[in-house]
This record gives sequence, C-alpha cells and structure tokens, in this order.
Amino acid sequence: MKIAVLPGDGIGPEIVAQAVKVLEALRSDGLKIEMEHAHIGGAGYDAAKDPLPEATLKLSKESDAVLLGAVGGYQYDNLPRPMRPEQGLLRIRKGLGLFANLRPAMVYPELVNASTLRSDIVSGLDIMILRELTGDIYFGQPRGIRTLDNGERQGFDTMHYSESEIRRVAHVGFQIAMKRNKKLCSVDKANVLDTSMFWREIVTEVAKEYPQVETSHMYVDNAAMQLVRAPKQFDVILTGNIFGDILSDEASMLTGSIGMLPSASLDSNNKGLYEPCHGSAPDIAGKDMANPLATILSVAMMMQYTFARPDLSQRIEGAVRKVLQQGLRTGDIYEDGKQKVGCAAMGDAVVASL
Ligand code: NAD
Repeated sequence: MKIAVLPGDGIGPEIVAQAVKVLEALRSDGLKIEMEHAHIGGAGYDAAKDPLPEATLKLSKESDAVLLGAVGGYQYDNLPRPMRPEQGLLRIRKGLGLFANLRPAMVYPELVNASTLRSDIVSGLDIMILRELTGDIYFGQPRGIRTLDNGERQGFDTMHYSESEIRRVAHVGFQIAMKRNKKLCSVDKANVLDTSMFWREIVTEVAKEYPQVETSHMYVDNAAMQLVRAPKQFDVILTGNIFGDILSDEASMLTGSIGMLPSASLDSNNKGLYEPCHGSAPDIAGKDMANPLATILSVAMMMQYTFARPDLSQRIEGAVRKVLQQGLRTGDIYEDGKQKVGCAAMGDAVVASL
C-alpha cells in the first residue's frame, strides 16, 4: 500500500499525524504500508510558490492512495486566485481524475445529542452522498467577469455535464446503493436547468441496469428541505458538483460535528484521495484541540475502497466507536460528564483500542 501523505495547512498536520499513527499501528501488525509526505495548499505555496507543487502531483500519481489533511489559512487569503490553497485541491482532484466524491453522514449513538436536530430525527442516520467532483459549473468554460456593450460589468460561469460524466458517476452511485439499502435519490434542478434535465435523462437510463435499486429524483431545493425534515428517508444521494457541495455540508451538520466526517474521492480504478470533510480550522490550529476522528475514519474508507480490505476498515471504525463509548471527546463533540481530550490523546486512544 503506497500512500502519499499531504498534511496541508492549519490543523492539517495535527490531524494527519493521528491518522499516520493508525497506519503505523497497522504496519506494525505486518501490513506492507509505505508512506511519503509532500506539500499542498498554503504549505505548497510556502515551499514551492505553488499550491500543488509538481513533485506533490507526481508522488500522488505514483501512489495507490492519497491521505490529505486540509488546506487554507488567513495568510493566503489575498494571494491571486491561481496561487490560493483551494486551487491545490481543485487541481489534484482534476489531475488524478477523481470524479466520485463519497461523503457518508452517520450518527454514532454516542453522539446523538451533538446534533442540532432532535434525536428522534437523526438517531440511526446513515446516508451516503455521492457528489460528482470534476465537472459542472465549477469547471465549465467560459467563465469570468466581462464588460457588456452597454458598459455594465457582468460575472458569468458555465454549467455543463457531458453524457459520459453523468454515466460514470451514476454507475458508482448504483453500485454503492447495491451494497447498502438499495435506494438511490438523484438530486437535480430539472425544472429550471437544461443541464439538470439531461442529468435526469441519463440517470434514468443507467437506473434500468440496476432494477433492484429503488430510484427516485428530487429537486435540489426540496432535497435541502427534506434533509432537515426527515433525513432518514435517504440511503444514497447522487448529485452534481455544486449541489453536492452544498447538500453534503448540510448533511454533515445532521451528525453534530464536522470533525467526525470522512470522505473519499475516487477515480475509475478506485484509486482515491481521502480527507476529512472539514477545512483547516485556522481558529484552533496548533492548539491540540482538533478532532482527528474524521481523518482517521478517512483511513477506514481508504482500506475499504482503494485496498478492498473491509476487515481493516471495520477494525478502525470499531476502534473509533470504542473510544467514544469510553467517553473520550474532543472539544467539538464534548458534553457534560465526558472526558475532554486533545487531538494527540484522541489519536493515541484510537491506536490503543485498535
Ligand atoms: P472549517 O471547516 O475549517 O471550520 C469551520 C468550524 O469548524 C471552525 O470553527 C473550526 O474550528 C471547526 N472545525 C473544523 N474542523 C474541526 C475539527 N477537526 N475539530 C474541531 N473543530 C473543527 O471551515 P472554514 O472556517 O470555513 O474555513 C477555514 C479554511 O479552510 C479556509 O481557508 C477554507 O478555504 C478552508 N477549507 C478547506 C477545505 C479542505 O481542505 N477540504 C474545506 C473547507 C474549507
């Protein structure tokens, strides 16, 4: 297992160090794991004046999987756009062809009170949001700011999806649904957008190849409402890049803390980039306060999706559950009566229970 380790900025290095401890523990059990570190985001800019240095992309291409912390920081906010940390993320996703972004939103029984929603609405929640990651309005050309004939300035972007882009992500969605509760809801805005009408047409065609899966379609505005009204109606949500960006953040809050949520971004051969859903949290960086569990759970996803070792994935998830049962909590998921621990202590506890 050759893994590129890209800690990035802010809390990135702290949380990634805990996930690396977990990988080292698996290695000491006899697993052949090779890890190499490289810079991305602001750290890439500091080291090589590029948020995705060439050496980082090369290492990532040569690896089976990439473990990433987070990117971004106040000190980079005024850089020109191509130099900004977030560009490193967009470019590595594109450069590795990572078109399928999997974001599970699960509520652990121990954390049911951490959600801002009533516990009866979220307890037992287990949904998977599959977001297309390399197309849509985030990458469409032309885009820019132009001056119209009448002298007024106008900002513009282009939304488009090609048939092959929709087909390949739809197949991933149906295959995931087949391994879960066999329900897939495709989310679009087909009542207004032509791109969405086309999306719906192609998803409907692909659905015919998976007759066991109960397929439905929902407009994104309704989906945003249903996610907070009755989220347990969903199993797999399949959607495009911009809708998925927004809905997956919304879904993350159903679970209480963004510090608990892992993600996987896969190419067509299950090579993947694994990272927590949250950002670099500059407000708590360097204070040993960050929750490393989302990053550790990202390693669990790596074992499942890239290395096809569900046994190891379950072992890591089991270790995380155990520390939660023991009452250990970082600040973001703390409640009265529990034991507050820092980032490194949480990582050590997971390794101990592993
Ligand atoms: P953020 O996710 O970094 O932080 C939002 C809030 O959640 C903060 O209060 C933070 O302290 C808290 N938080 C986040 N992760 C946590 C963890 N593991 N443990 C405990 N608390 C945690 O989002 P933001 O504040 O909007 O953005 C900060 C920076 O991160 C920006 O530069 C942004 O561009 C970047 N960002 C990066 C990614 C990424 O790398 N994938 C994603 C989102 C934002």
